[in-house]
Amino acid sequence: MRDKLSRRDFLKTGIGIGAASVLTAGKNLAVQQKKEGKMCVVASGNGLRATEKAMELLRQGKDPLDAVIAGVNIVESDPEDRSVGYGGLPNEEGVVELDSSVMHGPTHNGGAVASLRNIKNPSKVAKLVMERTDHALLVGKGALRFAKAHGFKEENLLTDEARERWLERKETLSDRDYWFAPKTEELEKELESYLSSHGTINCCAIDALGNLAGVTTTSGFFFKIPGRVGDSPIIGAGLYVDNEIGAAGSTGRGEANILNCGSFQVVNFMSKGLSPEEACFKTLERIEEKSRLLPHLLNEKGLPRFGLSFYAVNKKGEYGAASMWSGREEVRKFAVHDGKENKLKPIPYLYEREKQI
Ligand code: ASP
Repeated sequence: MRDKLSRRDFLKTGIGIGAASVLTAGKNLAVQQKKEGKMCVVASGNGLRATEKAMELLRQGKDPLDAVIAGVNIVESDPEDRSVGYGGLPNEEGVVELDSSVMHGPTHNGGAVASLRNIKNPSKVAKLVMERTDHALLVGKGALRFAKAHGFKEENLLTDEARERWLERKETLSDRDYWFAPKTEELEKELESYLSSHGTINCCAIDALGNLAGVTTTSGFFFKIPGRVGDSPIIGAGLYVDNEIGAAGSTGRGEANILNCGSFQVVNFMSKGLSPEEACFKTLERIEEKSRLLPHLLNEKGLPRFGLSFYAVNKKGEYGAASMWSGREEVRKFAVHDGKENKLKPIPYLYEREKQI
């Protein structure tokens, strides 16, 4: 009987309640002993509304993970952002598949979902994976069933705008297939601009008590192979939080990041005393070095052909970001709310792009 006692039963019992309140009391004591410090929220360039919202919630004393998730939910639900959630660009079959991870510093716990279809806010599902399962990552149909079990409603995430872009891409993929596109100059420009742009939102925060959390959420690469999973739902790659050190996350070419555990590296470099910006640069340099071993990733000058950016905040509330390449104004910025002001700042970069696509 005893070994059949479930976690739920345990919490229902007096022992459970007693143990839980001892834990809570211990936690409160730890919390009270900390001096109020500098709050900060940092995000990718599409996250200005997220940093605003997250700071508003931090000021109300909300948990930093709830704050950053509420922030990115705004972008996930916005059909105008083609890189995240509803309105995100679909895979090669015209289906939107979403990836997201969350990490909570105080408990060093995390959750993630990948290749999730029909659910607008994958970051909320990722948090439930963390809170309501003993797993860290659910994918595909299993993730969808889990979301539905928790009351999420299925929705068509493919907006007309995203469908039209998918159709254009399909029609212009090759001149040796059965698809024809109207070949206009305007379409050519349009194609160049959206093929070179990608998105994702990462948002990390530190609250007044020095607790950290982060979230990354994306629709992944446009026209990806169905089932392709990027770095965003991979803890250590698209997101990593260590409550004693800092939090970091990324946007850009997920494959390069997965192979180098990028966000973990950023946090690791911060643990060695590097500032958030230095740690982001050092990680990009490492990734560049390793990418030299893969010739298809290099341009004619031997430099990485892909974009990648990191965003970080440390335990002192200092923040920073860095990108592999410079780029179009609106893409190469990051968002930060430092407790005083919410603003977009230019991202420092390793290489200057000759053509500002
Ligand atoms: N990192 C995302 C992925 O690889 C895409 C992006 O940020 O553009 O899925």
